[in-house]
Amino acid sequence: SQTSDLVAARVRDVPDFPKPGIVFKDIAPLLADGAAFRSLVDDIAQRYTGQVDVVAGIEARGFIFGAPVALALGVGFVPIRKAGKLPGDTIASTYSLEYGSAEVEVQSDAFASGARVLLIDDVLATGGTAAAACDLIERGGAKVSAIEFVIELGFLDGRDRLPQRPVNAILTV
Ligand code: 5GP
Repeated sequence: SQTSDLVAARVRDVPDFPKPGIVFKDIAPLLADGAAFRSLVDDIAQRYTGQVDVVAGIEARGFIFGAPVALALGVGFVPIRKAGKLPGDTIASTYSLEYGSAEVEVQSDAFASGARVLLIDDVLATGGTAAAACDLIERGGAKVSAIEFVIELGFLDGRDRLPQRPVNAILTV
């Protein structure tokens, strides 16, 4: 599609970041291009008009794409954050990384009961982060209506950790 071409042209490969052997997808050039950023946000939002009650974004780059999609849809935004950042009662989900583990949290009262949630993040890699976010949404009493990524690293098979989920990526590499 036109939007995936825009994304492909504006994502930069950074070798050996954050560790040797990893090729990091840098979205900074995409964000710097106002027209490309806008058409990406519009492309995501128009597919969910009237279909979702709230957008949830995963810290930190999921916030950058999630908040404007929520505005375009006229719905609210819920931040899913790294552990220890949110005040008050929270729900946590721990997931494994290549070495060690990570934890994401959401506020316990973030979702209305039965709310239809559009989950957004920038990159689908192994799928652990998104799977943990889905766990939080469901334990928070809501439903995962769809998951949108700007970029999917297809060779990491992240979708295998999101079975039966409606997953879409603007660009798969
Ligand atoms: P996963 O849990 O799927 O292995 O990793 C996905 C998370 O790590 C996402 O929140 C994403 O922001 C980040 N991530 C992993 N690899 C990359 C990458 O190459 N580029 C960017 N921008 N983020 C990445």
